[in-house]
Amino acid sequence: MKIAIDGPAGAGKSSIAKLVAGELGFIYIDTGAMYRASALYAIENGIKITAESFTKEILDKINIDIRYDGDGQRIFLCGKDVTKRIREADVSIGASDIAVIPAVRLKLVDLQRALAEGNNVIMDGRDIGTYVLPDAELKIYLTASVEERAMRRLKELKVKGQTADFEQVKRDISYRDKNDSEREFAPLKKADDAVLVDSTDMTIDEVKERILELAKERM
Ligand code: C5P
Repeated sequence: MKIAIDGPAGAGKSSIAKLVAGELGFIYIDTGAMYRASALYAIENGIKITAESFTKEILDKINIDIRYDGDGQRIFLCGKDVTKRIREADVSIGASDIAVIPAVRLKLVDLQRALAEGNNVIMDGRDIGTYVLPDAELKIYLTASVEERAMRRLKELKVKGQTADFEQVKRDISYRDKNDSEREFAPLKKADDAVLVDSTDMTIDEVKERILELAKERM
């Protein structure tokens, strides 16, 4: 069985997907981490994020590996564990810029489909229900107001001991939403057959229960 969760930045997709995967014994695949790792490659190698930069030769050098341990998914870029580094703000913006480049998307979509093949998976991203796994048995479009999403991101940063400005966090989220929904190739969009879940006034637990209920109906 395949479950697709799409939605804008900071809607809680990965937290929810991890919980649901744990309950159902499914593999969780975080596709955003792959765009983030690709952006980190560009940052570390001084590559400008434009379509012209990502030739086949460069793309072949971006070696992304996903490994699973007790803690969940770890992501390796050219053999180095970058799980933490890819969560930083410069990589978030870079990921959103790199995600508009079709050649990058095609490479990552191949990897995503290969990981899903023959497994029970829950995959989160922007184009999972519309493009990567169009035959997924359950598709969720998870959203929340931009204020609520910025507030949640700010709280997350606080827990990590980092400070950030609310307006700046909101601007970064809006920038990524605009990039994601306006790009030509596989934009962020609710699939026609996706269930819309607006989590603005819901707790994580409520969202998890709602998705588990829908998943069980379709098993
Ligand atoms: O989900 P996350 O915020 O980690 O994703 C980072 C960036 O990668 C997003 O802002 C988006 O531009 C891009 N992305 C995408 N398609 C996906 C997953 C992520 O374009 N399936």
